[in-house]
Amino acid sequence: MKVFVIDQARCNGCHGCQLACKDEHCGNDWMPYQKPQPETGHFWMKVNQTTHGQVPKVKIEYQPYMCMQCDNPKCAICDAVTKRPDGLVAIDPIKAEGRRDIMEACPYGAIYWNEELNIPQKCDGCAHLVDAGEIPHCVDMCVTEALKFGDEEDFAEEIARATQIIPEDGCRPRVYYLNAPGLFIGGAVFNSEIDECLEGATVTLTDQTGAATTVQSDDWGDFWFRHLVPGTYKVEIALDGYEGKVIEDIVLDKSLNLGDFDLPKVDTTPLI
Ligand code: SF4
Ligand code: SF4
Repeated sequence: MKVFVIDQARCNGCHGCQLACKDEHCGNDWMPYQKPQPETGHFWMKVNQTTHGQVPKVKIEYQPYMCMQCDNPKCAICDAVTKRPDGLVAIDPIKAEGRRDIMEACPYGAIYWNEELNIPQKCDGCAHLVDAGEIPHCVDMCVTEALKFGDEEDFAEEIARATQIIPEDGCRPRVYYLNAPGLFIGGAVFNSEIDECLEGATVTLTDQTGAATTVQSDDWGDFWFRHLVPGTYKVEIALDGYEGKVIEDIVLDKSLNLGDFDLPKVDTTPLI
């Protein structure tokens, strides 16, 4: 059984996979697998882009997105949709003519309507290539190797630490994501008296279960906590010779730039 494994840490948002899909399917008739994809309006492979955080602490997430080749495909409402023995899900272009309900049944929004041909269309993992012993064209064209395709047993280690997009119980997608960025908390420390960023401050993040993670501010005074889940957090900042800072009850529902913290110097003048 085939799977796609997508490493988001390797994806640079070049859209090469999206273009590769167009290259393979626009103007090419791969019957009995697929009729040609329209030049515009269809994204059988699509690179979603999400901006996280607030200026100047901003990260952009790229998420290649396509049909999830579900083991329990909600689109399989008639015999025009087939779950192949290798795990790929195919729509028969002849049997599916006029069946808008197939497109509407997909909870992932992965099926597109071809107005000209009057058929629903989507990624089938380049089944015409897979049956010829090749790999999907998007995977072949990804220069960073963010996209992988192959037998499930060969990706056991990756699958064990992957996440999936599951909008509805029971779909059982066969697309696995590695290094999904999640949310972040960032900030910076400085001292306005000396007009300097403060490197080496110890910054501790504690979540609502009491679990704590510690990082050091870098040479720009910046600190980052990444791959966080939504929740309530506390941040404590400490640096020898400077007053500390505690920020309580941080409600994280989107990535957050806490801002820049001015840590005053501790007055070490001896009392006489
Ligand atoms: S081709 Fe590879 S690196 Fe480029 S957007 Fe697609 S998955 Fe990301
Ligand atoms: S993602 Fe949508 S189109 Fe693809 S197999 Fe699942 S339900 Fe069907």
